[in-house]
Amino acid sequence: MPDALELMAPCGMNCGICMAYLRDKKKCPGCRKLDPTAAVSCVRCIIRNCEALKACQSGFCYECAKYPCLRLRQLDKRYRTKYMMSMLENLEYIREHGLSAFVEKERERWRCRKCGGVISCHRGYCFTCGERPA
Ligand code: SF4
Ligand code: SF4
Ligand SMILES: [Zn+2]
Repeated sequence: MPDALELMAPCGMNCGICMAYLRDKKKCPGCRKLDPTAAVSCVRCIIRNCEALKACQSGFCYECAKYPCLRLRQLDKRYRTKYMMSMLENLEYIREHGLSAFVEKERERWRCRKCGGVISCHRGYCFTCGERPA
């Protein structure tokens, strides 16, 4: 996972396990490095463009007075239901243990046991060898 620290989005998403980041074609560079050619849904993301986020020194939503706002709670619910991960849990972990510890934990959690590649949370399999964890 290159530039792992830069791949942690303000909402708590680890862009390194996103299918748009992992795929070969039309690769997304991650939330913090988006350029205008990236997917409209990400460029226009309400969380990424949130005014309140600009006041958060850490660059993460957990520092916001409105945290966790409705938008973030909705996103979290969708990901907990569909993709076996939680933005809010991620943010709490980062707040408590720091970004580096979180990156380490994520590396291990999404590492393919067969080839060492990365499992996509959206697809549930390794983008390098296709292995699907049991
Ligand atoms: S599509 Fe969104 S979640 Fe995926 S890598 Fe790009 S910014 Fe991150
Ligand atoms: S938690 Fe705060 S900074 Fe994050 S999206 Fe909600 S209002 Fe914006
Ligand atoms: Zn693999």
